[in-house]
Amino acid sequence: EKHRITPDMIDQLAATSFPLCMRQLNDTLRTTHHLRHGGRVTYGLFLKAAGLSLEDALYFWRSHFTKNMDFDKQYAYNIRFNYGKEGKRTDYTPYSCMKIIMTSIGPGDAHGCPFKHTDAQMLRQRLSNFKVSQQAINEIMDLVSKCHYQIACQRYWEVTHNASLETGINHPNQYFEESQKVIH
Ligand code: SF4
Repeated sequence: EKHRITPDMIDQLAATSFPLCMRQLNDTLRTTHHLRHGGRVTYGLFLKAAGLSLEDALYFWRSHFTKNMDFDKQYAYNIRFNYGKEGKRTDYTPYSCMKIIMTSIGPGDAHGCPFKHTDAQMLRQRLSNFKVSQQAINEIMDLVSKCHYQIACQRYWEVTHNASLETGINHPNQYFEESQKVIH
């Protein structure tokens, strides 16, 4: 059974239960009131799989986008498309870690895997801002330097949930679901 989430829960969940890739998209959306296409698709499909309804998704995106630009027909179309209500009417599945890690990221894009795509010093700083201990940061950065991005993500989950994971992280929605199991 999928978790039902509503727009008012998203900022809190982003801080406690979203993987870094999705937290980054949420932070970018909040601060810039914009996401480029790749980010809208990646985050939109994640939120859908996390249990955000189509109606709530339209509300959520509209509320963020109106700050800087009109939430025009195109954006609403894209969101309905994610939910299989437009175009080929496919029920699109959210992106796996592998797909996100392999994505090529351009300037201004926020939809990569932070363990792969974020500059090491910036990533260190971000983890430190999120109150990760220096020892855990060193461990995570060591994994990153060996290109073990998903294991680094798993370590991040473990230190932020004070628990251990039996299986590795291979999907952002799996990260979220494991978090919800521990938090509820
Ligand atoms: Fe997101 Fe996967 Fe990267 Fe973790 S390893 S930040 S879940 S893409």
